[in-house]
Amino acid sequence: MTSADPAAPPRIRPLGAFVANQIAAGEVVERPASIVKELVENSLDAGAGDVKVDVEQAGVRRVRVVDDGDGILPDDLPLAVARHATSKIASPGDLAAVATLGFRGEALASAASVSRLAITSRHRAADHAWRLEVEGGQERAVRPAAHPQGTTVEVANLFFNTPARRKFLKTERTELVHIERVVRRVALAQPAVGFSLRAGSRSLDGLVPGSVDERMAAVLGAAFVERSVAVDETGADLRLWGRVAVPTYSDSRPTRQYLFVNGRPVRDPLAAHAVRQAYRDVLFHGRHPAFALFLELAPELVDVNVHPTKDEVRFRRSRDVHDFLFGKLARALRDLRPAPRVDTGASAGAAAPPGRDRFGFGGSAHPANLARMFHEVRDERPAPLPPGPSEPAPSGGHHAPGASLAPRAAPAVPPLGHALAQVHGVYVLAQNADGLVIVDMHAAHERITYERMKAQLLAGSVRRQRLLVPVALDVAQAEADLVEARGAELPALGVVIERSGASSVVVREAPALLGGADIEALARDLIADLVEFGASDIVRERQERMLAGAACHASARAGRRLTLPEMDALLRDMESTENAGQCNHGRPTFVALPMAALDSLFLRGQ
Ligand code: ADP
Ligand code: MG
Repeated sequence: MTSADPAAPPRIRPLGAFVANQIAAGEVVERPASIVKELVENSLDAGAGDVKVDVEQAGVRRVRVVDDGDGILPDDLPLAVARHATSKIASPGDLAAVATLGFRGEALASAASVSRLAITSRHRAADHAWRLEVEGGQERAVRPAAHPQGTTVEVANLFFNTPARRKFLKTERTELVHIERVVRRVALAQPAVGFSLRAGSRSLDGLVPGSVDERMAAVLGAAFVERSVAVDETGADLRLWGRVAVPTYSDSRPTRQYLFVNGRPVRDPLAAHAVRQAYRDVLFHGRHPAFALFLELAPELVDVNVHPTKDEVRFRRSRDVHDFLFGKLARALRDLRPAPRVDTGASAGAAAPPGRDRFGFGGSAHPANLARMFHEVRDERPAPLPPGPSEPAPSGGHHAPGASLAPRAAPAVPPLGHALAQVHGVYVLAQNADGLVIVDMHAAHERITYERMKAQLLAGSVRRQRLLVPVALDVAQAEADLVEARGAELPALGVVIERSGASSVVVREAPALLGGADIEALARDLIADLVEFGASDIVRERQERMLAGAACHASARAGRRLTLPEMDALLRDMESTENAGQCNHGRPTFVALPMAALDSLFLRGQ
């Protein structure tokens, strides 16, 4: 068995180029949508201003991408379909600073090995176009053709020679969904480029060249742009910009989450974790935030050559990236609170009076919109008279309408106004300069209590308690190494964990606040975080969850009667509390109904 027969053929043989390409294609071309992605990226790399995608039978019968980019010279056409041939990088150094979407030089070669592929292209310096066809990996001669400046790549009969892959395709509908997602995702990062997608009688239009916000509206919906916060933050050597949805505007599935790193759409667990953390105590459990975020950093700080599909990256300083993302987003979300009213004069009245569906009745008058409402939606009538500091606030029926209509220079009315009354012990009604504010008393109180407890928690270090019975844990050896190396930092996080063997650790102290919590699970999550992210927030996260529960119990229960000064005190507390727009469970704490919205209820002025 082991003795080699010198006459036998060698057992290790180099694969032919065709088989090698098919193997490579297995990684690059998973499904028709992968072809669409690669072709569209090529068009963008060629500087196209318009990219048209046309698919038949969800791309299996044909994918055609037409662009008006720079085009390809006839001599280069055979190279375009050769594996590891690219015009985008030339040396190892270039790989560290890739500025194009493509760089591996294998997409067209891979596609050509599992389909019938044709490229027709007219280079901007050529006086006519040329066409190259490749069938089953065999190239035909390059022939003259008719085509305006730019390139058309057609990929037909996908997987005709790899039936196994073909069998794994999902229904046409599903494949089409994937294709549409690819086009939307790529389009989001390139608002100046027009895109279209046709699939038989269906088409995706509206991706016309425009501003970033217009493109976001086209891809994520107009409501997203209205109900999101713009972020633009610059750090030492990175920049984060884009939009994140306000917590009360969330999805049941994580489908509208877009992250781009240096313009490249990526899936990144580290970034996803940072975003989740930022939303963690403002988002309703099980909901997912919508966001479109663009991270930019020096190319040498990120490795884009991680996977053939190029949709994963590695960050040189992953912890910094994580903390930057988390810190900036958490800040942006915390800043969502009733903003002090800025009197911008008549110019702000430019916004059209809101329709009834825009405010409140469909749930859109959420707190996070309030700041925007205060700025944009101004009503021409003079500000209503706020109660003076000495007199008690007028309650429900005793409001003198005459006084509130008298034009006068209004002293600043607090954003949430002054309390008028309480409804069934559940809601507080208040009047502010714009109209009516309705506050969910329990939800608001809960948030205030919680933020206070959190601040106290943050001010002191985490109090630890010695466990009566230490908890022993079997872990991987590398994890035990990590615990040994980082053990000194753990007490600050609230736990004392020591190595107790080659692959075991023991938890001796745990945060006092967590009382009877599952210490083993806590320690495992903590170690997992350390492995993956180099640090852990888990103790804080768990403590905050405990606090949220405690705050909920400690807060005013529905049904309690409040006096007007108590209600006013609640409103003032809300104004000065972070995250006051939602309770700890992500439900809104108040809704604002400006006069215009009330008017429209009564069909006034229509
Ligand atoms: P990569 O994009 O990694 O370079 P590809 O196999 O996708 O590899 O493409 C190979 C080469 O073909 C590219 O480097 C580029 O020079 C050329 N090419 C492909 N598509 C186009 C296009 N639409 N317009 C201009 N040139 C293109
Ligand atoms: Mg490419």
